[in-house]
Amino acid sequence: MPDKLNMELIQVGLAANPYPVYVGMDVLDKLAEVLRQHGDYTQIAVITSKSIFQMHGKKLMKGFSSDQEVITLFVPDGENAKSFDQLQHLYSQLLEKKFERKALIIAFGGGVIGDLAGFVAATFLRGIAHVQVPTTLLSQVDSSIGGKVGINHPLGKNLIGAFKQPLFVFSDVSVLKTLPDSEIRCGLGEVIKYGMIQDREFFSYLEENLENALNRDDQILLHIVKTSASLKARVVEQDEHEHGVRMILNFGHTFGHALEAEFKFGELKHGEAVILGMKCAMQYSLDKGALSPAEYERGMSLLNRAPINYDKTKIYAKRLIERMSRDKKVRDKQIKLILIDRIGHYYTEIAENQEQLRDAYKILE
Ligand code: NAD
Ligand code: MG
Repeated sequence: MPDKLNMELIQVGLAANPYPVYVGMDVLDKLAEVLRQHGDYTQIAVITSKSIFQMHGKKLMKGFSSDQEVITLFVPDGENAKSFDQLQHLYSQLLEKKFERKALIIAFGGGVIGDLAGFVAATFLRGIAHVQVPTTLLSQVDSSIGGKVGINHPLGKNLIGAFKQPLFVFSDVSVLKTLPDSEIRCGLGEVIKYGMIQDREFFSYLEENLENALNRDDQILLHIVKTSASLKARVVEQDEHEHGVRMILNFGHTFGHALEAEFKFGELKHGEAVILGMKCAMQYSLDKGALSPAEYERGMSLLNRAPINYDKTKIYAKRLIERMSRDKKVRDKQIKLILIDRIGHYYTEIAENQEQLRDAYKILE
C-alpha cells in the first residue's frame, strides 16, 4: 500500500515485534522524516563504508535536525568487515561518543554492513534500536529482512550472531544504479529463488524481464524488490527463528554453500553459488522423477540467462558432498534438501545416498 511519501509499505507481521519495509524510488532523503514517525532519536550512528557514503551519503543525511547528533562510522568494504576487530572498533567509538541505550544505529550498506551493524545493535549496551538501509540488490531483497545479524569467525562464516529485528527497513531502489553488474546478478540469484520455491507468477515475470533487470531498469527493479521483500516477509513471519518453514529459503544453498567454500569464498560470490546450487537441486529432482523435464527446462533456461563464470575443473563431487555434510545447517548428520517439484512449489527431502548427490553436481561439470 503506497503511503503519502510515495513508498510501498510491506509489513513483516511478527507477533512480538512487527515492522515495516519501505520500498521506493529516489527516497533516501525521506529517511529522517520516516524515522521521526518511529520515535524520537537524538543519538544516531550511521554505520557505512566510505565508498557507499561518498556515493549516496549526502542524500541520506538530509532531513536530520540540528538537535540530533548524527555520527558516521566507517568500516572497510568487503566480507572481512564482519570481524571481531571491526566489531570492537565500532563499540569503542560508540562508547567514546557516550552513546546511550536510547541511541539508534543506521546500517547503511550491503549485507555485510547490515549484518555487522545489526549485530552491534543487538549487543551494544545489551541492545539498542537499529534501522536497515540496504544498498545492494541482495540486501534489499534478502538480508535486511528477517533479523539475522552477525559476524564471521575465523573457522567459518556467520557463526557468531543473533536475531535482532530492525525498527524498520528502508530500501531506495535508485541506489542500485551505482552497483556493479556482478552484484546485480548475485541479488537476482536470490530473487529467482523466491520465484522457484514460492511464486510461479513472479517466475514468469522474471522470464519476461530478466535482461531488463540486469540492465537496471528502474521500474523492473522496483517491482522485483517489492515482490521479493514481501515473499521473504511472509516466510519470516511464520518462522522468525528458523525452526521450520524459513528453511525453504535455503533452496540452492545446500549445494551452493559447498561450492562457495570449495571456491574459497570470493572466487565465487554467494549469489553466483546459489544460482549454480539451484541447477544442482533441479537436476536432483529431475533424476528422482519428482520434477518433469518441461519444468526442469524452464527453470534451467532462466538460470542460464544469468551466466556464471567458474573453473569447471574444480567441480569434484566427492569433496563437495563432504562439504555438504559439514554445513552448519546439517542437523543430526542428515542433509535436508529443499527442492522443487514444479516451478513455484517446494518440497523437502533428506538426501538418501551420495550417488544421487554426486549426479546432481554433474550438471556443473
Ligand atoms: P556486500 O555488502 O559486500 O556489498 C557488495 C559490494 O557492493 C561491496 O563492495 C559494497 O561496498 C558495494 N556496494 C554496496 N552498495 C553499493 C551501491 N549502492 N553502489 C555501489 N557499490 C555498492 O555484499 P551483499 O551481497 O550485499 O551482502 C553479502 C553479505 O550478506 C554476506 O556477508 C552474507 O553472509 C550476508 N547475508 C545475510 C543474510 C541475512 O539474513 N542476514 C542473508 C543473505 C546474505
Ligand atoms: Mg543466500
